Amino acid sequence: INVLEINKLNFYYGGFHALKNISFNIKENEVTAFIGPSGCGKSTLLRTLNRMYDLYPGQKATGEINFYGNNILNPKEDLNILRSRIGMVFQKPNPFPKSIFENVAYGLRLHGLNNRIQLAEQVEQALRGAALWDEVKDRLQESALALSGGQMQRLCIARALATKPEILFFDEPTSALDPELVSEVLRVIRQLAQEGRTLLLVTHQIEAV
Ligand code: ADP
Repeated sequence: INVLEINKLNFYYGGFHALKNISFNIKENEVTAFIGPSGCGKSTLLRTLNRMYDLYPGQKATGEINFYGNNILNPKEDLNILRSRIGMVFQKPNPFPKSIFENVAYGLRLHGLNNRIQLAEQVEQALRGAALWDEVKDRLQESALALSGGQMQRLCIARALATKPEILFFDEPTSALDPELVSEVLRVIRQLAQEGRTLLLVTHQIEAV
């Protein structure tokens, strides 16, 4: 099964034509990596596939991005729902200036989950999925900004996992981390791959895949 079917995709930063007529498929339960020299368009492609560019005036895409058969370039696409179905982890850990718990609960609350017990269960599940639970279970109300860089990046993975996305995007997820913190994040990505999740990575770390 194809999660994404990209057909004749073009992307423009204003007058700059950054992606030219790209077509490819992303299969379910597989890890796919975009590898290539700096400036070739890897990040642009990732930002296009989840319509992140929508936040920036003057940027536009043409062609088709079929997500389980539905073209998400359709202007009527609900971007809040799309963001919960396509998880995204950025190069630099970017936790919200909130507690550890609230970082992970954020997307769940946004989609209407307010039941305390269910929230607590799903936050725990997401933190376990990012191999962070044991380190933070006794300090869930502390600020996420007090965590180490590697913990913050795993928290961002947990935040993305919380809404049970069908695919997870990683944009160079370890390149902003200190070398000694890289392996703890790569370990989580490998674990997610072994669980059969569909992952799409932009990476320089070939060993991540
Ligand atoms: P990569 O991720 O492979 O390093 P990018 O997707 O960041 O490549 O960049 C692809 C091309 O788009 C480059 O030529 C880059 O200069 C250009 N580009 C990236 N971001 C912008 C922007 N906000 N405005 C205009 N051009 C951009």
